[in-house]
Amino acid sequence: MKIDRVEAVTLRFEYERGFKYAGGVCTGRLTTLVRVSTDDGRVGIGSGYSHPGLLHPIIEHQLSPLLIGENPADIKRLWQKMYAVTRWYGRKGAAMTAVGALDTALWDLRGQAEGQPVWKLLGGDTPHCPAYASALLWKSPEELADEARALIARGFRRVKMRLALGADADGAAVEAVRTAIGPDCDLLVDGSMRYDEQSARQLAELLRDNDVFWYEEPFPPENIDGYVRLRRDCEVPLAAGENEFGAQGFRELIRAGAVDIVQPDASRCGGISETWNVCKMAREAGLRVATHSWCDAVAVIANAHVIAAAENGLTVEIDQTGNPFIEDLLTEPLVVLDGMLTLSDAPGLGIALNEDVVDRYRLDDPYNIPDGNYSDMVFGRQFLADL
Ligand SMILES: [Mg+2]
Repeated sequence: MKIDRVEAVTLRFEYERGFKYAGGVCTGRLTTLVRVSTDDGRVGIGSGYSHPGLLHPIIEHQLSPLLIGENPADIKRLWQKMYAVTRWYGRKGAAMTAVGALDTALWDLRGQAEGQPVWKLLGGDTPHCPAYASALLWKSPEELADEARALIARGFRRVKMRLALGADADGAAVEAVRTAIGPDCDLLVDGSMRYDEQSARQLAELLRDNDVFWYEEPFPPENIDGYVRLRRDCEVPLAAGENEFGAQGFRELIRAGAVDIVQPDASRCGGISETWNVCKMAREAGLRVATHSWCDAVAVIANAHVIAAAENGLTVEIDQTGNPFIEDLLTEPLVVLDGMLTLSDAPGLGIALNEDVVDRYRLDDPYNIPDGNYSDMVFGRQFLADL
C-alpha cells in the first residue's frame, strides 16, 4: 500500500441569518478536508481548521510530495518528516494544522489496512465517547433557556454556553441556562478570551454558585501566568488548549500548572498523533482531556477516537449552532444518546463523506475567500467586531 494522491478541499457555507458571538456576527463557516489515496484504492480522510489560503500551499506544494510513494501506516516517521520540513515557519498555527490533517488521514488508512477502528489501534476498549453540545451564544436569557432545553431533548447531558456579555448579563445568562437544564446536567462556560484577571475572578464566584463543570478560556492563550494565578483560588476547573499547538505547546501549558482540563483538537494541534501525545502528557500530570472541535464532523470523529481510547478522556465538543459540515457532511450523521456518541466498529475512522455535500460547498479558489466572519477567521474589516 503506497500513497499515490493527496488532495485538499476547502468547504464554505454562508448563513442566511448569522448569529451573534464574542467576535461579532458569524456569517458563515469554512473548513478544509484532506483525502489521501493509495495505490490499492483506499482513501483516508482528515480535517484541518485554519486559513485555507495557508493550508493549501503547505499541503499541495510541500507535504504532498513527501508523502507520495510512502506507506501510510508508517505514521510516526511520516509525522516527523512533515514536522521537520515545516519547522522553520511552522510549529504552531497553519503548518501544524496541515501536518495534523494529513496525520488523521494516515490513521484512517492504517485502520483500514489493519481492519481495526482507530480507537482500538490506540488501545481503547469501548466505542462510546461522552459528547457535549456546544452552542448557546449571545442571546437573551429566555432564548438561551429555550435553546438549552432543546439541546437536552436532542440527547445531550452537557451543554456549553458563551459568556463575556458583561457582569450582569453573564449572571442572568448562566442562571437561565442552569435553571433550564436542571441540576443533573452539566453546564460548561466559555469566556472567549475576553476577561481581565479581576473580572475573571468575579465570574469564577458566579460559576461556582451555579455548579459550573468547567470554566474555559477566560484569557488569551499567551497569558499562561494569568491562568496560573486564577487557578490558585478558582473553585471551578479551568480549561484551555484550543489555541495551543503541538506537544511542546501543551507541555508548556501543563508544566506551568495553568489548567485542570486540557483541550487539544486533532484538526488544529497536529492530528490524532499529537492529540494522543497530549493525552499521555496530561495523564502524567493528573489532568483530564476534553477535545475542542468547531469545524466539521471529520474533526469531531477524529477527536472522539482519541477520547474514547484515552483513560483521561473526558468528552468531545459537538457544534450545535446549525453547521452543515457537522450535520450533513457524513453519510451516517452523528447521533448522541443520553450524552454519548458511539463510534463505528468499521476500520479506520469508520466514516464516509457525503460527496454531494462536498460538491455543494466546495470553494473553487481557496486563495480568494469571499469577505465574511467565519467564526474564527474573519475576512474583510467590515466583519470585524468592535474591539
Ligand atoms: Mg472555546
